[in-house]
Amino acid sequence: MSYKQARLRRLNTAPTAGERDYVLYWIQAYRRLERNHALDYALWCAERLDRPLVVYEGLRLDYPWASRRLHRFILEGMAANAARAKEHGLNYWPFVEEKRGEGRGLLRKLSERAALVVTDDFPCFIVPGQSRALARKVDVPVLAVDSSSIVPLSLLGSPVSAAAHLRPRIHKAFAEAWLHRAAAEPEVSRAAARPVSAPFDRWSGADDPAAFVDALPLEGTVPPVEGMPGGTGAARARLGTFLEHRLRGYAERRSEPRPPDEGHASGLSPYLHFGHISIEEVAEKVLATTGDWTPEELRIHNRGKREGFFSDDADVNSFLDEALTWRDVGLHWHRSRRADAASLETALPSWVLETLGAHAGDERPHLYSADELEAGQTHDELWNAAQRELVATGTIHNYLRMLWGKKVLEWSPSPVEAYRILEHLNNKYALDGRDPNSYTGILWCFGLFDRPWAPDRKIFGRIRYMSSANTARKFRLSPYLGYVESLPTIEAVRSGRA
Ligand SMILES: Cc1cc2nc3c(=O)[nH]c(=O)nc-3n(C[C@H](O)[C@H](O)[C@H](O)COP(=O)(O)OP(=O)(O)OC[C@H]3O[C@@H](n4cnc5c(N)ncnc54)[C@H](O)[C@@H]3O)c2cc1C
Repeated sequence: MSYKQARLRRLNTAPTAGERDYVLYWIQAYRRLERNHALDYALWCAERLDRPLVVYEGLRLDYPWASRRLHRFILEGMAANAARAKEHGLNYWPFVEEKRGEGRGLLRKLSERAALVVTDDFPCFIVPGQSRALARKVDVPVLAVDSSSIVPLSLLGSPVSAAAHLRPRIHKAFAEAWLHRAAAEPEVSRAAARPVSAPFDRWSGADDPAAFVDALPLEGTVPPVEGMPGGTGAARARLGTFLEHRLRGYAERRSEPRPPDEGHASGLSPYLHFGHISIEEVAEKVLATTGDWTPEELRIHNRGKREGFFSDDADVNSFLDEALTWRDVGLHWHRSRRADAASLETALPSWVLETLGAHAGDERPHLYSADELEAGQTHDELWNAAQRELVATGTIHNYLRMLWGKKVLEWSPSPVEAYRILEHLNNKYALDGRDPNSYTGILWCFGLFDRPWAPDRKIFGRIRYMSSANTARKFRLSPYLGYVESLPTIEAVRSGRA
């Protein structure tokens, strides 16, 4: 199978209508115009069919957990795409709903003029359903292209129960996949660049996405995050800061809860989630910091091992193990077992279901309602701080995110209720939520991809236990707690006073 084929999924059997006006690329998840396999494929089709390419990026008002926070981040990305499209000579058609339902039927209309439709093969949220729905309705091919990671997900095989099982598969395919990275700049042929005028008023809010979002009928309890703009340029700037100031020390200290300016986390997950930056570009730039590295000299050794595969530099290797192995674990899990995310019964391994079942009747010394948790009103100062960070900034430090999830399991009447609350809070407030790794991250707190631990505890059974007291013994928490204290309170954020 060629690499192009490995990324490609045909969603219907309709024939190409080569005489129609254009090839349509419908951006849903990889919201960028560089290093994008789906765009590369659409450009290739346009050239072969001698048709212009139209890149359509839309935003509705009614997606699940829609908020001013998510809208602003996405629209800043769209404003950046509009500017880049001009530089690349691409027909870029942005459409943003200002009234509910305004965009209904638009995509179908655009598809009626298309020779074929290319879209993103993102394995989560509303994307797979939307793509399938379009494929059913139109009389031209709908082709979904996987641009999620470096190794195409279709090459990673059957579902796994641990990261340790996926790692060797990624390592085995990595060198070859590396040679087939997406184009750094889109190669726009003369045919593809031929101008086509849009049959609707294109989004005109690109000059000031913030003001535009403020005027939209979106619920007000999740405001935009100031100081964290969306878009490819912002993603690159964040990556640059990470490489300069935070990569050194990543292997040893990434788990230490610190204020974002002092810690070692990259803060790239929102940009990766919305596709504003490609993981290929991130990996290239991280590898380039080792100095002795060039694409031609990629050294592949220690295959299957966590240490020393991508690089002998421990920080570089550790970062790439998270950004490639762990990120791919979530993507691959969704692609291979997508339906399972909806139900704990099918998502979790049998040992977890058994141990949770055995402890279902255990007394819960602390029980909190969904509202109390959302408001950060528990007895646990560290948990409340993590929740406040999430609500105020749209992010949670990775280590505390694990603790945050585990405690909701401990403080809820049942695992099913805990899962429902975590999904809601994560997807509502986190900029990187609604992602395959949202679900596998939460499910990890319930034992997915982990092993049974001793002793057998109340409520948790054999599931790995975490506590705020142990976290406080492990790390010096005062800088983090001081940072959170400087953030607006949850109440202020949710009431729009922040
Ligand atoms: C309860 C819970 C919920 C989570 N929800 C999400 C989510 O909604 N979206 C999301 O992208 N991740 C989620 N994660 C995984 C992880 O917490 C974040 O990816 C990470 O904290 C993002 O911060 P960063 O970009 O600074 O990470 P860095 O440490 O800088 O890592 C770089 C990149 O590697 C990937 N990565 C790092 N750690 C993990 C991990 N443990 N699992 C998977 N990928 C990882 C991410 O893409 C990240 O951007 C969740 C984890 C838990 C325990």
